[in-house]
Parts: sequence; structure tokens; C-alpha cells
Amino acid sequence: MKRYFTLLIILGSALGLIAQNDWEMVQSTVSKDIIKAHMYFLASDELKGRETGSHEGNVAALYLANQLRKYGVKDVPGTDKPYYQSIPVNKLSPPTSMEFKLGEQSTPSLIWLKGADVSKSAPLIYLNHGLAQDYEGKDVKDKWVVVRAGAEEEDNLQSAIGIASTKRKLAMEFGAFGLIEVSSAPERAWRSLSFYFNRKKTSIGELVDFPHVWVPSSDIDLEKVEGAAEASLKLEGITNEKLTSQNIVGMVEGTDSVLKKEFIIYSAHYDHVGTGKPDKSQDSVFNGARDNAVGTVTVLSMAENLAKFPTKRSALFILFTGEEKGLLGSQYYVEHPLLPLDKMVFCFNSDNGGYNDKTLATIIGLNRTTAARNIIDAAKMAGLRAIDDPAPEQNLFDRSDNVSFAAKGIPAPTYSLGFTAFDKEINRFYHQRSDQADNLDYEYLYKFFLSYVLSGRYIANDSKTPFWVEGDKYFEAGKELYEK
Ligand SMILES: [Zn+2]
Repeated sequence: MKRYFTLLIILGSALGLIAQNDWEMVQSTVSKDIIKAHMYFLASDELKGRETGSHEGNVAALYLANQLRKYGVKDVPGTDKPYYQSIPVNKLSPPTSMEFKLGEQSTPSLIWLKGADVSKSAPLIYLNHGLAQDYEGKDVKDKWVVVRAGAEEEDNLQSAIGIASTKRKLAMEFGAFGLIEVSSAPERAWRSLSFYFNRKKTSIGELVDFPHVWVPSSDIDLEKVEGAAEASLKLEGITNEKLTSQNIVGMVEGTDSVLKKEFIIYSAHYDHVGTGKPDKSQDSVFNGARDNAVGTVTVLSMAENLAKFPTKRSALFILFTGEEKGLLGSQYYVEHPLLPLDKMVFCFNSDNGGYNDKTLATIIGLNRTTAARNIIDAAKMAGLRAIDDPAPEQNLFDRSDNVSFAAKGIPAPTYSLGFTAFDKEINRFYHQRSDQADNLDYEYLYKFFLSYVLSGRYIANDSKTPFWVEGDKYFEAGKELYEK
């Protein structure tokens, strides 16, 4: 009797009569050794920190495309070659000489925000803070627009930088020749600003020639700006190196005739910050194991699992370039989507700084979408507890690739290694040369990966389509996108 029963089971599974459940499917493909192998390659010294546009960054991309090929993941229509969404990259070097002159006043101490070489004297117009209302009834065509940095209501440095690109867009729209912001940032802050902005910049797509600089109020007196008629700006020695980078994409079609029209995006950035000066131990490579080989490999694990066991909904995998240069790859993707964005019902992004609690998976934006239950249940199954953003003051939700999708209305949390605060333990590895593949706990990673893949399966098989929780910052954008 017993033998007969065993035979039935063997026959049954051979014929696929005894269906595996999601948890069994996840366990059958996620493996600690496979995770390790990917990690040790992607975070190797040989890949020199996977900088966007670098040869090594492109080798990482090739590796990822080949993994998708091996799993049997399908190419997405519209790629440049299988699995490649190519992206033109500009690597600009800063001006070698700069000067701003206004009547008797002049300064070489400029912060270069945007623009190509220029040497031009032109009429100027002073426009308070340079916000929309300041342009009313003013003719700024072919003039230097001179404004005060920041905005009236929020005059701290960080928000002044945050609003700078909005101001630039306004000045460009109204036909100004360039934008000069006078900043009262203290000297120490000025030095950090100069270090941060007056160096090589990576951008994608069309180059912006429009000059946009900050000048210090200690050199340029605003009282005199209002009376002056002409100003001149000189930026010299800017060079542009044109490079190519790419997002890596692939898809798996869903099994349900209706739900397969909806896609779940599984995404992570694979780029990191490259190399720097050697430290005491002669290490110059920022390996980026946690940030973000871990996220990259979670997406690979998902792809491997779904190629073998597709879910009801379809899957789109995207591995972004350029995150560390300012979310470039994800922004490029949402502006040039390969599949209609309104068919993408959820983006399950993974990005990581490090971990300080191995009992957790930290999901930035966990409770902001209706998928929270699925993620919490999956984490529990894998032996972890899912928690939401423990450091809202860091504004992490709006600092990773998920926000490119969220801003379009797509529910998009970011799945991260367990952390309870952005503390010393995190900063020990975050953007450090020590962020390497050989100082990770792979027992913990294994659970973390099981939890991600199972979460994805639960969300993709759920009869209910995930959405933003009512009242969320991006709820209205979602309603608009999906015409709900
Ligand atoms: Zn990073």
C-alpha cells in the first residue's frame, strides 16, 4: 500500500498533477551559492565599482543580459539589441576658468550648475528669487537673469539647491540667456558646494548649453545688482566625453489570460560609484556589494524563478544604470518606456545601503501601497519581519529609482536589507571601499532573497491589483495614470 502510494506521488508530480505552491517554487530556485556567485562577480575589484559609462560598468551589464538569456527570459520589443536599452551618456569636465562681472564687481568664485563654454556680456534683469510670479510682465529675452538663491519661504541651503533646476527651467522657458543666482551660503558651505558641483558631471540625453551658476553674495552685492545694466559671464575649458551606457531589460509573460495584461516591474540599479584615491590598505575600489549588487541579484533571482514558474501577471525586469549620478537610468526609462506605463501596475524596486538588523527586511514605502500584506506575509514565511521606512527624515523614498515610477503614478516601494536607523553600522559600509562581497552574511541574504521572490509572486498572483493607499502623495498621479 505504501509503495503504491509513493508511486502515485512520483507519477503525479511527473505529470504535474501535484502543483507546487509559491513557497516551494521559490525554494526550488533561490540558492545561497548562486547568490554568492553573482555577488562575488558584480562586486569584484575587476569591475572597478561599475561606474556609469565605464568599460567595467558595461561588462556588468553584459553579465546581467547574459543571465537573463540563460534563464530564458524574453527580450522586450524595442530594445537596441536583445536586453539592451542603450543610453547616450555625457561626461562633462568642469570649466578651467570662470568669472562673473557686474559693473565694478567681479568674482572668479563660481558654482557651475549647468552650461557649456560661454563668454558673453549682455543686459541683466534682477528677478527677486526667479520663481514663476517674478516673471510676470517682464521681458527677459537674451538677458542674464540675476536672482537670489532659494525661495522666500524656505531659505536653507538644501532647499535652495533642490529648487535650482525648477528655476533654470523657468529661465530657459522665458528665453533668458542664462541664470545667475546670488547665494549667501557661508564660506565653509561654499567650499563643499564648489567641491560637489565644480567637478566631472555625468548626464544623459541632450546636453544643456544654458549657463546656470551661483555667485557668492560676499563678492556680488545685491543692492548694486538692481541698478546695474550689464553683466558678463565667462566659463572656459569645459570638455565633453561621449559614452554609452544601458538599462538591461527582459520580460516573462503571465499565465492568466486576463491578468497577464498587467505587469509587475522588478527593478534595481546595477551601477555604483567607481574608484577613488587608494585608502590606507591601498584599496581604491568602491565595490558596491550592498549598494547595489544585492538589489541587482534580487532581480536576477526573481527573473530566474519567474522564467521557470511564471505568475498570473506578467513580469518586466529592469536593471538601471546611472542611479548614483542622479537616478539617470530610471528617469530615462520612464521617459522612453518600452511597454506602456499604464500597463505597469506595480514596481518592486530594490536598493540597499547596508543592514544592522538581520531579523528584518526594510521596505521603504511598505505601508504606502495595498501590497503591504503580501510583502509582510512573504517575509514572515522566510523568517523575517517586514518593516517600513525607519528614517523618514532621510527621505529615502524619493532618493532611489522607485520615485521615477511613483511620480508617474505607479505604486513603487523599495525593498532593502534590514535596518532600523541610518546609523554608524550602516555608514561603515555605505559608499565606502569596505562595501565588499566577502563581508556579507549569506545566511541572512538567503532569507532576504527568499522573502523578495516570494513577495513578488504573492503580488503577481493576487486577484486584487495593487494600488496606492488613499491619501498618499502619489495617489492622484496613480488615478490619473490608470484612469481610475
Ligand atoms: Zn548608492
